[in-house]
Amino acid sequence: MPRLRFPQHPPVRSRRAGVHRPLAGGAPALAGSTPKAQQSPVWLFDLDNTLHDTSHKIFREINLGMTASVMESLNLDEAAASELRTRYYRRYGATLLGLVRHHNIDPHAFLQRSHAFDVAPLVKAERGLRDKLNRLPGRKVLVTNAPLHYARAVLKHLGILRCFDHLWGIEQMQFLGRFRPKPSVALMRHILAHEGVHPRRAVLVEDTVENLRGARKAGLRTVHVFHPGSSFGRFKHGRPDFVDLRVNCVGDLLLQKRPLRSV
Ligand SMILES: [Mg+2]
Repeated sequence: MPRLRFPQHPPVRSRRAGVHRPLAGGAPALAGSTPKAQQSPVWLFDLDNTLHDTSHKIFREINLGMTASVMESLNLDEAAASELRTRYYRRYGATLLGLVRHHNIDPHAFLQRSHAFDVAPLVKAERGLRDKLNRLPGRKVLVTNAPLHYARAVLKHLGILRCFDHLWGIEQMQFLGRFRPKPSVALMRHILAHEGVHPRRAVLVEDTVENLRGARKAGLRTVHVFHPGSSFGRFKHGRPDFVDLRVNCVGDLLLQKRPLRSV
């Protein structure tokens, strides 16, 4: 089985755009050195359908871009490429994994081609999102299965790039010789180790239920963000026990005193 040809990237520090810099060896990368900061949660935020609402056609653009990229990479017609894209997404959680495992495609070229569109007219978020994030006590880290250039473009458009200490895109999710996007439990442990945070202090805020399940297995607390436009977050049989809290928007987190602050 071919391995991804990404080098092992550390998470990207968003405050210094464009600079990949490894974390200092041994010392955890905690922003908070005061006792209060050390007791605050560390928020791991998903991107799509968590920080913005994808009902504004952005997934359509991504799907079109991925299908076009599969067509070009594997010389398939549109119907066959679309079917393969969907099949790999369902099987591996990310289309990219299937393409690399079974077709040895260039992941960099695929990610660039599949997300080569202007996000500005497609991204819409709740009002006052930056202020809400800034009022939420604790560090924020972005964890998305999407490529980094896309994540950065969306965050910049929303004006919230500097709210996040680190960005984990799909390029950063390769370690121990394998590629492990969400909902990998090993990924969650890997991220926590890099961020220097105990699982009980970390909270994953996310719209996709399976990703919340993986986070809980790693010991994190979980917040489910439900967007009416999402097809990823519906509960089939009520709220599962691995979800601590369900909200409709990030602003709801500011209203919740328990259980997430009782760390
Ligand atoms: Mg999502």
